[in-house]
Amino acid sequence: MNMHNFNSGPSILPQPVLEEAAKAIINYNNIGLSILEIGHRTSWFEEVLHEAQQSVKDLMQLNDSYEVLFLHGGATTQFMQVPMNLLDTNATAAYCDNGIWGSKAIKEAKLFGNVNVVASSKDRNHTYINKDFTIPADAAYLHYTTNNTVEGTQWHHIPETHVPLVADMSSDIFSRPMAFDKFSLIYCGAQKNMGAAGVTMVVVKKDILGKISRTIPPIMDYREHIAAGALLNTPPVFAIYLSMLTLRWIKENGGLTVMEQKAKERAHLLYSTIESLPNFVATVAPEDRSLMNAVFVMKDPAQEKPFLDECKKLGMVGVKGHRSVGGLRVSMYNALPLSSVQAMCDLMKDFANRYN
Ligand code: PMP
Repeated sequence: MNMHNFNSGPSILPQPVLEEAAKAIINYNNIGLSILEIGHRTSWFEEVLHEAQQSVKDLMQLNDSYEVLFLHGGATTQFMQVPMNLLDTNATAAYCDNGIWGSKAIKEAKLFGNVNVVASSKDRNHTYINKDFTIPADAAYLHYTTNNTVEGTQWHHIPETHVPLVADMSSDIFSRPMAFDKFSLIYCGAQKNMGAAGVTMVVVKKDILGKISRTIPPIMDYREHIAAGALLNTPPVFAIYLSMLTLRWIKENGGLTVMEQKAKERAHLLYSTIESLPNFVATVAPEDRSLMNAVFVMKDPAQEKPFLDECKKLGMVGVKGHRSVGGLRVSMYNALPLSSVQAMCDLMKDFANRYN
């Protein structure tokens, strides 16, 4: 059966990347060894690492004042590592609370210093993005989540601020061009647009480091990773390799401008279909809807199970909403063909005809 992969992460990857990686597991670049068998300090792996780092800088148009690290621990570890490196015990960081992941980051930051939640969309169940709020000029940094994977909202602008900007871009990384040089630190788990689970990318502007008095364990200290050439300990070799291939695929397929154009086509098709049918209701404010994760509900909750059953029969996976919000979610990452969204829309129309 032809599958349609709407998983929220780990999620769909480009087919050519999977094919190349499958070959490399048996025999990497015809060297007679698997990519899983080579040391991380070999020139073979260093080439992989350097290409991945350079591709990130190329796609983000960043210069050498930034460093690209590939770490362990998932984006969740960054919830703690960011304040550990950037927030002094008596200082205050500004945070936006737009959903489950942002709230987790806030909870962790409070372990290290003070947190000022400068914007929250909790009052309307995180179905919108805050537009007007004030960021104190003395905040250590402003942290926000560019795309809320669970709630289906996305920031379509960069907040204006003079304090260092820190963003969790886990679920919309490399899906659109942005003024990445406005950020001091960007992080993401790789398992959506960048590759497989098992590696976390951190892009950090070097001049924001070393400004706090806390002693940081070396493995948690970004400066130590930078000083060690991103090889402080054994990195997740295979996951970095897969990210390198995915980044190469993005570059070969038109870069971030084309990724954004395709994301817009997919999202427009899906949201306009939802709006045209009485059975489905998109819960997010139209101007704040995510191009990556479309969240919606059935007008009659009793129709949810039959709809999900039909999705399953047609090979459409990952359509059930996150356990914390329920409803339905269709994730449409870079590698998802428009034809999968078309198949979903065809099913929705057909379903609406039969269940009116
Ligand atoms: N932030 C966002 C926006 C996410 O979507 C996720 C995972 N889906 C996380 C953080 C947590 O990432 P990880 O599981 O890699 O720790």
